[in-house]
Amino acid sequence: MDTRIETDVVIAGGGPAGLMLGLLLARRGLDVAVLEKHADFLRDFRGDTIHPSTQELLGELGLLDEFLARPHADMPRITLSWHGTVLTMADFRRLPTRRKVMSFMPQWDFLDMLADAAARYDGFRLLRSTRVDDVIRESGRIVGVTATGPEGRAEIRARLVVDASGRDSTLRGGAGLAPVGVAAAMDVLWFRLPKQAGETHPFVQAGAGMIIAIDRDDFFQIAHVIPAGSWTGTPDDLARMKQRLLRISPRIGAAAADVQLDGVHLLRVRLERLRRWYVDGMLCIGDAAHAMSPAGGVGINLAIQDAVATARILGPVLRKRNPRPADLRRVQRRRMWPVVVTQAVQRAMQRPLLATSPSDAPLPRPLRTMRRHPALAHLTGRFVGLGARPEHLV
Ligand SMILES: Cc1cc2nc3c(=O)[nH]c(=O)nc-3n(C[C@H](O)[C@H](O)[C@H](O)COP(=O)(O)OP(=O)(O)OC[C@H]3O[C@@H](n4cnc5c(N)ncnc54)[C@H](O)[C@@H]3O)c2cc1C
Repeated sequence: MDTRIETDVVIAGGGPAGLMLGLLLARRGLDVAVLEKHADFLRDFRGDTIHPSTQELLGELGLLDEFLARPHADMPRITLSWHGTVLTMADFRRLPTRRKVMSFMPQWDFLDMLADAAARYDGFRLLRSTRVDDVIRESGRIVGVTATGPEGRAEIRARLVVDASGRDSTLRGGAGLAPVGVAAAMDVLWFRLPKQAGETHPFVQAGAGMIIAIDRDDFFQIAHVIPAGSWTGTPDDLARMKQRLLRISPRIGAAAADVQLDGVHLLRVRLERLRRWYVDGMLCIGDAAHAMSPAGGVGINLAIQDAVATARILGPVLRKRNPRPADLRRVQRRRMWPVVVTQAVQRAMQRPLLATSPSDAPLPRPLRTMRRHPALAHLTGRFVGLGARPEHLV
């Protein structure tokens, strides 16, 4: 073993959950090592939505100005175009938060900001290009992890291991934890389209299939939701995709005429969760505990709220002693309910997201209700913007 590190907490994964937890624990004076397998955060398939609840937390941390100084676009309402009928699905403008908007920020900028803020604390270290391989177990308790980094193999021993390595975590399996599916999956086709000066598109277009258009200043990032397993990456699949896009949005369909197969990435969406988020010495949070669908764009914010609850519950414990399973259970008890509620809503949204209907078909009932009672958009805005159980630092 080339490198040996001893720390209070080792966190697998430098995504939103891992970096926020690292920042919060270092801020409490603890030694934390975050291990991230990639060299940087530059992956453009990451979600981009930073909700009012997360911006409120950044305000509580004194980081809101730093956040706002980075490139972002604000959205006070989520609108949906159903065969051309435009409806407000969620309105954030009456939220009791300092920022009443959902902001889009490339996730690499957001993660860079969290990593920079965390690096101001002596106890924080981020080991990039370091892949966590397995847990170390002694006398039935997990006491650290083994990893492979630029210097070779490493052993990191800690009083608590946190698995924040996302939906494809291999660590939790090593600890004997396996997720159960909550709903049949759907897939997302992810590609870029060039943007002309001043060009805009509705955020969500649905009715004949679904497109989300994320404006990234100099291009549009398009997410096209499809039934799970229906894309095999053949030229026929590409041709069918272009026909569907033309039906959903003739403008986006026309712009997609030049998209090539190698420019389309398939993202597999899963909706699942662990029954038990912990074993002695290790806790799972974020997508490692509950993989979220992109519906509502709430996964990042839920992961951040897990981190906040974990730091608030375990931070004081870690300053005194090793966390016991009962301490870890308190984190799961606090966060399981919002996860169950949010996943139930995401599951209910899957069918309408994928639905196709003739353009003269009546609006689906939930959309008719939203149109008849526009004030409901403030309620949905509260659910989407704040989450089922918003967390605060204290
Ligand atoms: C197609 C799609 C689009 C989405 N869009 C949105 C959106 O717009 N808004 C939103 O809020 N949510 C969105 N989500 C959900 C969101 O991406 C997740 O819920 C969120 O990223 C979870 O954060 P996390 O920190 O738990 O995990 P992740 O973001 O997955 O981060 C895990 C980190 O761990 C690292 N890692 C993995 N394995 C190891 C290892 N062995 N060793 C070291 N490091 C490791 C990874 O490189 C990664 O950096 C989307 C999901 C999908 C599938």
